[in-house]
Amino acid sequence: MTMRKKIVAGNWKMNTLPAEGVELAKGVAAGRKDVCDCVTLIVCPPFTHLSSVIEALKGSNVEVGAQDCATETKGAYTGEVAAQMIAALGCKYVILGHSERRQYYGETSATLNKKMAEAYANNLTPIYCVGENLDEREAERHFDVVKAQIEEVVFNLTEEQFRNLVIAYEPVWAIGTGKTATAEQAQEIHAYIREVLRSKFGAAAEECPILYGGSCKPSNAGEIFAKADVDGGLIGGAALKAEDFLAIGKAF
Ligand code: PEP
Repeated sequence: MTMRKKIVAGNWKMNTLPAEGVELAKGVAAGRKDVCDCVTLIVCPPFTHLSSVIEALKGSNVEVGAQDCATETKGAYTGEVAAQMIAALGCKYVILGHSERRQYYGETSATLNKKMAEAYANNLTPIYCVGENLDEREAERHFDVVKAQIEEVVFNLTEEQFRNLVIAYEPVWAIGTGKTATAEQAQEIHAYIREVLRSKFGAAAEECPILYGGSCKPSNAGEIFAKADVDGGLIGGAALKAEDFLAIGKAF
């Protein structure tokens, strides 16, 4: 029986002003002692307050991640933020391929292969998001969609890189909609994702944390996290209240 890392990560998206973000982070740090040390807690604030949130969380055992990074290393790319800049601040994680980035900013597997390379070159652990939209789920194409998102990006990693990867399964129809996948639906597709990973990386697939995301909240997290192949959550809305985020951390 492998002991996979348990992770609860908060994706703040484009929410909070800097001072509010610092308050939220302090609230998470203050309640950290009530969450098992066996759970890695990560907050992912907007770029503008990564620095001040990292400062506020020093010594707290709460990790910090960015929500995205650039495809390029540095140079004339107005408005972009490089992985090396994020890493230099003390960030350890970076969310890549979130469905909002895929949907609204046209991110493709080609884009994401470059971002993954930048993340690894700078010792950031990617939290790579996959998931189908409602039409794809209704047409029962969700397994194929998720498989392609993994094959086109994750299969390009070396085993060493793969051993430093977190995957988040986030059905688009459940993100910010209040509509959660059932624990059974989550387990079914998480087990499938692990099977796909096993076909390429063998036993290392047993160690890869696979998080569920999509309207996860204190009232449903326990049931979802109890499933064998669910190793935690990527939390949007409920991560904006320290109390709710911590309650999800305690849900294991
Ligand atoms: C997300 O976008 O990563 C997410 C899971 O959002 P929410 O929890 O708000 O559905």
